[in-house]
Amino acid sequence: MNEKSHERKLTNLAEVTLTIGLNLQKNQTLNINADLDAAPFVRKVTEIAYKKGARNVYVNWMDQEISKLKIMYAPEKSLSEFPDWSKHRSEELIQQKTAFLSIRSTLPEAFSGLDPERVGTYMKAFALESQPISLARKTGIIAFCIVCVPNGKWAQKVYPRVTPEEALDKLWESIFKVTRVDCDEPVEEWKSHIGSLLSKVAELNGKRFKQLHIEAPGTDLILDLPDQHLWIGGGALTQEGLFFTPNLPTEEVFTAPKRNGVNGTVKSTMPLIYGGTAIEDIELTFKAGKITEVNASKGLETLKHLIDSDDGSPFLGEVALVPEDSPIAKRNTIFYNTLFDENASCHLAIGSAYPLCVEGGTNMTCEELNEAGLNTSITHVDFMIGSPDMNIDGIHPDGRREPLFQNGCWIKKN
Ligand code: ZN
Ligand code: ZN
Repeated sequence: MNEKSHERKLTNLAEVTLTIGLNLQKNQTLNINADLDAAPFVRKVTEIAYKKGARNVYVNWMDQEISKLKIMYAPEKSLSEFPDWSKHRSEELIQQKTAFLSIRSTLPEAFSGLDPERVGTYMKAFALESQPISLARKTGIIAFCIVCVPNGKWAQKVYPRVTPEEALDKLWESIFKVTRVDCDEPVEEWKSHIGSLLSKVAELNGKRFKQLHIEAPGTDLILDLPDQHLWIGGGALTQEGLFFTPNLPTEEVFTAPKRNGVNGTVKSTMPLIYGGTAIEDIELTFKAGKITEVNASKGLETLKHLIDSDDGSPFLGEVALVPEDSPIAKRNTIFYNTLFDENASCHLAIGSAYPLCVEGGTNMTCEELNEAGLNTSITHVDFMIGSPDMNIDGIHPDGRREPLFQNGCWIKKN
């Protein structure tokens, strides 16, 4: 690895994270939730944030090994406990319009081999604890962004056939490539990428499709779309009108299917890492929106717990389209990390929809969202269904079909 060029790309990634990802403002506070393995990058981001005029940078360190010890040994009832001060901390930060950044460096199967019941309880408590922040995110009160950086174990999972050191270098290089910071003007590069996602969004919003029909081996799914549905991509606006990009990388355009309007079957095409467990070959059957049959070759118990989280978790909250010729898909790498894998593949999400996906949604109560056709749940977990064999049609209100995807890619119009 060339130290100097690595350092330059790391600086680029930090710059893009703060400028494009969070659109960090002068005098704004920044909160970073970070895994310990990400420490060098967290310091880099902190430095650049202060240089950009951040008021305060708070870092909330996390460690999956510590979480694992809790799941293994803590008394049953403490698994679903979380302290009030944690809630108050979130509320205070939200009130100050803090920018929320997650810098994750997760282990692909940190919780594998643990009791799925206890992992499920812990994950649910974690989702509940994060609720004030996820609500503030969904309603556009705060800007937020997630980026991921490598660690040795993760790198070896992605590149098992090279030495640990080579694997780590390779994963860094891949991440620099897919986050588009491997160039001289990364911020300009990002602006033009976001521009093209926004024009795809405008095109789809003009269509007013009634349904989407997704077909691939093992998948034959019809998704009704809410009347007032909106496609989203490239980023979002806070209520104060700041444009930010929540995921780096991002290649998707997405909307929400109608809560009770999903019918058919779907098969996943990549492993899903959820709650430190790999879930593979997911097969789901839907009737009137609800998951009625579940199967998986691996991680089935964990998947069942996820679907069982609450009233909304057996329903879908997102349908996202990503072409097979995106830079991430073209690398032909399974990252074992949803942030990257979801941006290489069309995906669906089990659980809540983003209120942004329906006209006026960010000002709606849960009941109003449900009425508008959107699902609500404490959980939102993406799983990947894209493949080079996937075809997708948009169906107009008069039944006319318009092909959108052929062989996994957008149909090019001339
Ligand atoms: Zn998505
Ligand atoms: Zn999602």
